[in-house]
Amino acid sequence: MARMKKIYCAFLSLWIVLICLTSCDPKHTCVAEGTEREKETAATCVAEGHYDLVARCSVCRNELSRTTETVEKQKAHIYENGKCRTCGATETIPDPKGYLRCKQNGDADPNGAYVLFGEYPQTVKADNVTVTDVQDFRGYYLGSDGYFYAAVKAEPFLGGYTFTTGTNIEKSSVYYFKVEPIRWRIYLENEHGASILCDSIIDSKAYQSSYKFDSEAGVYYATVSDAPAETFQNNYAYSEVRAWLNAQFYEIAFSDLQRSAIIATTVSNGVSTTGYPTNPYVCENTEDFVFLPAHLVVTKSAYGFSAVAYNRDEARQMQTSDYARANGAYMQTNEADYGMGSWWLRSPYYEYSNHVREVRSGGDASYRNSARAEAENGVVPALKLRLQ
Ligand SMILES: [Zn+2]
Ligand SMILES: [Zn+2]
Repeated sequence: MARMKKIYCAFLSLWIVLICLTSCDPKHTCVAEGTEREKETAATCVAEGHYDLVARCSVCRNELSRTTETVEKQKAHIYENGKCRTCGATETIPDPKGYLRCKQNGDADPNGAYVLFGEYPQTVKADNVTVTDVQDFRGYYLGSDGYFYAAVKAEPFLGGYTFTTGTNIEKSSVYYFKVEPIRWRIYLENEHGASILCDSIIDSKAYQSSYKFDSEAGVYYATVSDAPAETFQNNYAYSEVRAWLNAQFYEIAFSDLQRSAIIATTVSNGVSTTGYPTNPYVCENTEDFVFLPAHLVVTKSAYGFSAVAYNRDEARQMQTSDYARANGAYMQTNEADYGMGSWWLRSPYYEYSNHVREVRSGGDASYRNSARAEAENGVVPALKLRLQ
């Protein structure tokens, strides 16, 4: 009986070995020794890269797992002869400092009264440029000329406006605007840096569109969430335009390097900056990177402006960019001043809680020149730049 069992066992063992030799090997348990990259697309300056991380069996190459990994885009373009080596983008400010000191026409000049600093959509796209679907982190599209373009559905202030190219602006049509260096005037320079004012109307924004009217008091109050109760609609500290300048505009118009060259400024908002002997609507001073100019600044002859506020003044006249026109900026359409817009000062008007001072298309900044805070008006930013 014991012998029979032994034979039986031996037979069974042999049988198991036979099965293993014939069928066990092809039906092996798949094992991967590490992972490999597949479907690799390299990151560029403007777009993330991707690759699949794949685990395959080292015996039969069976796919065991696959995950898609993201490669961060490059932080900066690498320029060679004015073009980016990676994505072909055009170098708009050819200066390692992040700004280019220049003449009014943009030609480099170490003692020029202007700087090119930051970039923003400005001129409407030329007909011979095509826009690709390569989109950068700002949402701009790379054009065939190496410049980036912003797409905007036009909402002109009035019908009949044209772009600087002479093309009529059709409401609700989509146009592309070239992202170009912003030109600024240096109006004050000292050992700390240069105070600069944008040399055009760069966009169109409301000063404060969130408000309510208190009919008993006859007063307009701002209704932004962080404002204390009874903050006037024309309060600069809590204004929508100030928030926009220091968040969205600051983020999109300047690179990391450029932001590090902007000096945070204590912006004075006292009564004397508003151009009135008394003004119940002034706010405390603010700490800003980017700000609207005060009435005091644009009426100072030392800064290159007419000291007479109600005078027509070419230095105060500002051209609307094509982009600002598409975004609803008001502009003058008579031949002499075609394209000149009206633009916000940060100073509140003294008489009503919902009016703010402005400069009009003729460059006049008189006491009558105030605009309703909730209306869109031109934006001409100012800031302080650290010079090197
Ligand atoms: Zn296998
Ligand atoms: Zn690039």
